[in-house]
Amino acid sequence: MSVNNEWRLAAYKEVVGCLNPFFFTYLGDYCRNCQQVIGRLPEAIEESIDLLEGVYPGCCHRGAGDIFRLEGESSERACLAPEIITELQLERKHKLEQSISSGGSYTFRRHRDGVQVKGAHCLYFSAKGCLLGDLKGPLCINFICPPMRSDLLAVCGGDHSLVGPEHDFLFIYRCLATISYDDQDEVARELSTLRQRLRALADKCRVFLAKRQIQSLYDFF
Ligand code: SF4
Ligand code: SF4
Repeated sequence: MSVNNEWRLAAYKEVVGCLNPFFFTYLGDYCRNCQQVIGRLPEAIEESIDLLEGVYPGCCHRGAGDIFRLEGESSERACLAPEIITELQLERKHKLEQSISSGGSYTFRRHRDGVQVKGAHCLYFSAKGCLLGDLKGPLCINFICPPMRSDLLAVCGGDHSLVGPEHDFLFIYRCLATISYDDQDEVARELSTLRQRLRALADKCRVFLAKRQIQSLYDFF
């Protein structure tokens, strides 16, 4: 990345860095109990499994951290800017070299046909969670499964303009497209808007929990 463009990677990391605490505080319980969450889906019976070996990684399958598509954006903006991807991958390589372990595999049996399936963790998945911090990929900070989405909508009174459309939680992909392709002033405006939206949603979650004197959205729903 040219020196002139370094601010794009810095802005990208700022987005991930401000979303991580929200995921950790309000949504982490869901992912730690992924199979129960999936059990709420209409297709749950089709998808149910018995874990035979290893740790079930939820959405953190091999390759998921390396998906850089920006769903819903026009074709020329439908992927994170190549220069951001290159720098991210370089910094990730460095981070991975310093970590003790990452990745791994697991085996499960599908209830619907009894077939045993072996899966591989994302390379950045570890016993302590994701190793990447603010270097996570776009999908990792954007994807919320349907039960999470419906709970967040319940928390904020069905305000889709806050939660964002189904394919773009909090309009994160739109923000990343701006970071990739627009000028520095536009990026600053978009970052500020994302921060405001995130703060508003976090406030709704905090008030919802406090009113009910509960600790966790996952436990409540
Ligand atoms: S987002 Fe949903 S499906 Fe994915 S790991 Fe978390 S709980 Fe499981
Ligand atoms: S990069 Fe991290 S959050 Fe994303 S899939 Fe891999 S382990 Fe999960």
